[in-house]
Amino acid sequence: MTSRTDEIAAGLEETRERIARAAEKAGRAADEVHLVVVTKFFPASDVRILAGLGVTDVGENRHQEAERKAAECADLGLRWHYIGGLQSNKAAAVAAYADVVESVDRRSLLSRLSRGAGERGQSLDVLLQVSLDPPDREGRAGADPGDVRDLAAEVVATDGLRLRGLMAVAPLGEDPAAAFARLARIREDFLVEHPEATVLSAGMSGDLEQAISHGATHVRVGSAVLGERPTVK
Ligand SMILES: *Cc1c(COP(=O)(O)O)cnc(C)c1O
Repeated sequence: MTSRTDEIAAGLEETRERIARAAEKAGRAADEVHLVVVTKFFPASDVRILAGLGVTDVGENRHQEAERKAAECADLGLRWHYIGGLQSNKAAAVAAYADVVESVDRRSLLSRLSRGAGERGQSLDVLLQVSLDPPDREGRAGADPGDVRDLAAEVVATDGLRLRGLMAVAPLGEDPAAAFARLARIREDFLVEHPEATVLSAGMSGDLEQAISHGATHVRVGSAVLGERPTVK
């Protein structure tokens, strides 16, 4: 029987190879692309195994689960990325443990994130989540591309928040390469005004190659490393 550690080590190695191959194909250095392992639905014991295998960054998308795991794994020195939908009334609490909030998509979150960061006594890295969905898509997450410029300016003007870049998810039912090509153009405009905010978080288990070919600096990979998630929500 293979142990959970062996299983995770194999998924991790395969994912790191995929990243290296995609970077090479895009003419980029493999160390330009950072791996964030998405640990949602998986136990804190898996997070501990990941840290032992050299993973430095983990992603979570549900506040209560993330808060609990971050507390259980506080000794590991990991960077916690919050990548899920954010309710305004939870934003300050998320800023208490997250090192990066990748899913900032509206202005009303900013003062609460700022308050949470202030209470913690450190600044909070922020990515703006850009929607690549059509405007009428049900359950659309992320800011409209046309709102990114104003939202970025608001983040820069907010105490305790550091604008680091953009995040996006490729829409279902569209070729991810086409979606990430749109994202690359949005990012080009964004970088003119915010040249320091170079992070581009894009690409998951199914489309990390396309994301890397369009400039992703961070890929968020869950199932390819950890296996299928339990389907219950
Ligand atoms: C779950 C999730 C991922 C990881 O998805 P996989 O397909 O398991 O790699 C990446 N990004 C976000 C925003 C997610 O919610």
